[in-house]
Amino acid sequence: MSIAPTPPDIAHIVRQVIQELSLAGKAAAQPSAASGPAHGRSSAGAHGIFGSVDEAVRAATEAFEQLERLGVEGRRKAIDHIRRISIDDAEELGRMEFAETKVGRLDHKIEKLKVLGTKVPGVEFMRSEVFSGDHGLAVIEHAPFGVIGAITPVTHSLPTIACNAINMIAAGNTVVVNPHPSGKRIAAEGVRRFNAAIQRDIGIDNLVCLVAEPTLETAGDLFSHRGVKLICVTGGPAVAKAAMQSSKRAIVAGPGNPPVVVDDTADLDNAARSIIQGASYDNNLLCIGEKQVFVVGSVFDRLMAAMERAGGMRLGARQVDALTKRAIVMVGEGAHRHPAPCKDLVGQDAAVLAKAAGAAAREGLDLVFGETDVDNPFVPTEQMMPFVPFVRCKDVDEAIHRAHESEHGFRHTAIIHSNDVRTMTRMGRLLDTTLFVKNGPSVAGLGLGGEGYLSFSIATPTGEGVTTPLTFTRQRRCTLVDDLCILGSPDRS
Ligand code: NAD
Repeated sequence: MSIAPTPPDIAHIVRQVIQELSLAGKAAAQPSAASGPAHGRSSAGAHGIFGSVDEAVRAATEAFEQLERLGVEGRRKAIDHIRRISIDDAEELGRMEFAETKVGRLDHKIEKLKVLGTKVPGVEFMRSEVFSGDHGLAVIEHAPFGVIGAITPVTHSLPTIACNAINMIAAGNTVVVNPHPSGKRIAAEGVRRFNAAIQRDIGIDNLVCLVAEPTLETAGDLFSHRGVKLICVTGGPAVAKAAMQSSKRAIVAGPGNPPVVVDDTADLDNAARSIIQGASYDNNLLCIGEKQVFVVGSVFDRLMAAMERAGGMRLGARQVDALTKRAIVMVGEGAHRHPAPCKDLVGQDAAVLAKAAGAAAREGLDLVFGETDVDNPFVPTEQMMPFVPFVRCKDVDEAIHRAHESEHGFRHTAIIHSNDVRTMTRMGRLLDTTLFVKNGPSVAGLGLGGEGYLSFSIATPTGEGVTTPLTFTRQRRCTLVDDLCILGSPDRS
């Protein structure tokens, strides 16, 4: 996929500079994207930032109609700007996201923006299917829905928006985003940059719109707005449930709690390196990241040694207990009472967790880990922090069974380290997850070190899988009866 812009001519550069100067003048007279919504009747120049869902949907509807007129080439140009800005501004935007959300790791915030610029599929993914036969021709086209409403998480605020926007615009849609309140400023800054560049090039503003002050109420407004034709939700259990109950069609990228199984045929050094790479990525904020490991007893001690060789810090039993008390809290009432990660440790560095466990952290530590029994609350909890519990199992069947239980039927992601194809098959069949990674880190399942493409929205309960432009299309069939089929019998007329 080429993302390099073609060299512009001199006249084009002059036009662009004049346009930028005039936009800079206008911007100086307006409130900044991050500081507040644009008001007034015309939405052009708002660069996607709005004070209400209604204004945002109106602007996105107008932008959708304009985009339709520019065809696939217009979509491609718009997407190229989102890709270019994600790559060129990754350092600055990554720093802003890290400073605002205060979760994860700066190096990975920057990397996530860069990789989405090249790995998320765009218009090249679009296709039509053709059936030709004795009765003529049928073409199945993949048409846009119109305006899509998106809810995005704090764990990857701007990357999810950029990735959704590339997929959705490639399919001809526009989008209104209700971002997580704790990532709303970086969301607004990215959206403002995307729209400004797109408008300068193809003359359309507001392909990506954003509610500047998102709340649960504005999320509800988006779910119920008549102008929104489809919903795409990326987040945890509460928002996934709300979307599934919505009266509109929803694509739901819900929570995960990915288990790892390691059996006695595995390459233990590779397993250890892979677990550390996946579970420490962005301090284990990824929904696909390794969250608990079930190990066959005969290789348990050797795997723990391999984890230490690969750079992980092993906590002793008392330290694990201390960390568990500090990191996991009980939430909910009655039958719904369950363990949850303590918010102030979510996405924090391994060194912070080591300290909370009473251990002396060392410089550059990526992951802490320790042996627990299966009842430790870290096992069923999507902890989103770089501590991983390791559970000793008598054999691989027990390990697979425990892995299945800990995944809660989310059918999101599972990982195995094994060289026994039958064991892989047994685990794959039982857990039936959307991503099933063998002998590598979880991120390989999104094309990072493995094959395939990337998305930050993996639709699990609704079944669309790793989202692509085609996820955001509706099928249209165009039929021509008795003509244009050239494969059948020769013309006898
Ligand atoms: P979160 O559920 O707290 O928030 C996600 C979004 O939903 C936010 O915009 C939030 O404001 C909104 N929201 C929350 N409750 C809502 C409700 N009742 N109605 C409407 N909107 C609501 O999640 P988070 O902490 O931002 O992100 C982490 C979670 O998201 C994890 O569970 C992770 O597994 C999941 N996630 C899934 C994927 C995926 O592709 N499947 C990708 C990223 C994150």
